[in-house]
Amino acid sequence: MSINLEFIDIALLSSVLDAISEISDFSFSTYDSSGALLIPFKREDKLISQIKAYASGKDEHEKFIRSGIERAVIRKEASVFKGPANQHHLFIPVIIDNDKIVLVSSAFYLVRSEFEDFVIKRGQNFGFSPPKMESWVDVIAVKDYASVQKVASHLKSLLENILRSSYERNLNHKRYQWAKTLIDVLYNMQLPAPIKDVHSLIVDALLFLFHVDTVSIMVKERNFFKTVMSSGKLRDDVISLYIEDNNHMISRAIEGLKPTSTNDIAEISRLGFPDSINSMHIFPIACKDCTHGVIAIYNSVISREEAYSILEFCKLVCLVFKANILHNAYDECINDMHILNTSVTKLAPQLHNPDLLYESIVDTATELLTAEKGSLMLPEGDSLLIKAVKGINKWLAHGIRIKSGEGIAGRVFKDGAPLFIKDVNKMELPHIKPKPHYKTGSFVSVPLKFASETMGVLNVTDKTTGKEFTERDFNLLNQFASYASISLKVSNYYNLAEQMKELSITDHLTGLFNRRYFQERFTEEIHRSERYNLIFSLAIFDIDDFKLLNDTEGHLAGDSVLKELSRIARECLRANDVLCRFGGEEFAILMPQTHKDEAFIVTERIRNNIKESLIYRFKKFPRPAITVSIGLASFPEDGRSVNEMIRNADIALYQAKESGKDRTVLFSIS
Ligand code: GH3
Ligand code: MG
Ligand code: MG
Repeated sequence: MSINLEFIDIALLSSVLDAISEISDFSFSTYDSSGALLIPFKREDKLISQIKAYASGKDEHEKFIRSGIERAVIRKEASVFKGPANQHHLFIPVIIDNDKIVLVSSAFYLVRSEFEDFVIKRGQNFGFSPPKMESWVDVIAVKDYASVQKVASHLKSLLENILRSSYERNLNHKRYQWAKTLIDVLYNMQLPAPIKDVHSLIVDALLFLFHVDTVSIMVKERNFFKTVMSSGKLRDDVISLYIEDNNHMISRAIEGLKPTSTNDIAEISRLGFPDSINSMHIFPIACKDCTHGVIAIYNSVISREEAYSILEFCKLVCLVFKANILHNAYDECINDMHILNTSVTKLAPQLHNPDLLYESIVDTATELLTAEKGSLMLPEGDSLLIKAVKGINKWLAHGIRIKSGEGIAGRVFKDGAPLFIKDVNKMELPHIKPKPHYKTGSFVSVPLKFASETMGVLNVTDKTTGKEFTERDFNLLNQFASYASISLKVSNYYNLAEQMKELSITDHLTGLFNRRYFQERFTEEIHRSERYNLIFSLAIFDIDDFKLLNDTEGHLAGDSVLKELSRIARECLRANDVLCRFGGEEFAILMPQTHKDEAFIVTERIRNNIKESLIYRFKKFPRPAITVSIGLASFPEDGRSVNEMIRNADIALYQAKESGKDRTVLFSIS
């Protein structure tokens, strides 16, 4: 296995070694800690070349070098080892963080006799012979131990210092590249993005940047983590894997917010993972308050630096997931608001017909929740009455009364709290029994509330899809109910105000306008007539001998005469004429744009109709019929103010009474 030494600047090391060989008589080759040659000797070592020319020599030499490297790495100190030709080599391990290299010096002898000894004992195996020994005298290096020790002691720290700064620069650059690429990947993501796209981008980025074998995302679902996306060599093997959330690797990763790993085959197989997986790393996609899932990396060696970068990346992924969830929720909210706004516009208070409002509340609520059935119940007395329905037979629902506190709607009304049942069949609710006429067991029942008053209950059942109602449906209906309550309240207030207004201007016995209202209309009529130069007439009439009627027939009979007479008078008038009860048994009529003689025809018709209609009704009343006396005055000839007009009509009325009753007298100044 070759070792990744990407942070060690080999070119720099090579030039430093060149300089060392120039200024000292040492030259060095460089190996990684597994024994792979990184930088060869600058000049060929003739002694070693001679030995390596023989297959067995080559083999022996290489074995010696490998074991020297191994031992030097373990000892972590510069060491001198003796080779197959009795020669020595200096092995200097240079260690920077996780990276280790070993410098191996050219061969040297400490005393010449070591060389001679080798030639005599083993020289013939490698082409050396004692006669030729003299020719090697200038080739072999003989060094004194003190100078070797000096070089050994200085060179290790010198090289470590030189290489460290470039090592860190390279490492930082790489970290920067990783961070930049990973951040770019997430930064350029268009949110909200389909969650599959986010997952696929994440696994591909990890695969590409860290050259891992296989990577997957597992998302938390109930009590396990399920693979939702995978990439790399074993993508098909891992795509259906899942791990329970109480697994110790998962919980350590999530709780500690740090990666965990294993290469224990037995443990991996206990998870039910296939044999093709022999190691795995788990990185949490979580933060203190939420857990989205984990990233699993299989069959890959990950350096500490890489693990650190992947963990930081996971923190960003967690933020992206959060942002995506928020984005989606925001979009949903905007969408719901739009739907709600559209619905609410259909709820304009129906001022004259509250039934229309009730129907539109039920229609809109069922439409909003795409449901088939709905009903609106409003209180009447101590029970709730169905006021509007959708999808339910109107005639069957009509008249159904529910006591407050009884059944679902009664309970919602009493408690003033909404009720949302996803599926009544799945719940143990003793007070609620599934109704056979509903398609589903899912329903929503919300109170219509205004301030602390519960004004009614809105029920929605049976989603058209046949599915259960969702939290979102429930929230939508609750919000809609607030608007519906306001609409209902406005409508109620309007109707109340209308009634109050009616009451304030009418006389309750006869239903005619009262004197206060008449006075207002009279003043308006004078202004209008003055401005446009118009005329109008005023008649005041009084029932003849009414006291006598009361005395002989009783007050109730008197009242019914007042009512009937009012009806008859009204029937004789046009829509524009204003008839009012002026006092006890006195009435006034305002006839806009009516001349005195035209008005006279009208009052005569009233007088005659009364006399003819209210005949033969009384047992003790000594008169043959109810009659009235009428006084008539016209604007502007008989007066220009309200008081003047009334006074003059009254004078005419008095004259009618004086001259024998049962007649109309026109006012005249004379
Ligand atoms: P005249 O022909 O001169 O108008 O005689 P009169 O009896 O009609 O006149 P008077 O003003 O003496 O009596 C009016 C009576 O009308 C007195 C009062 O008890 C009665 N009256 C006033 N308002 C009502 C009412 O709302 N119901 C009944 N039943 N009687 C009323
Ligand atoms: Mg009177
Ligand atoms: Mg009278």
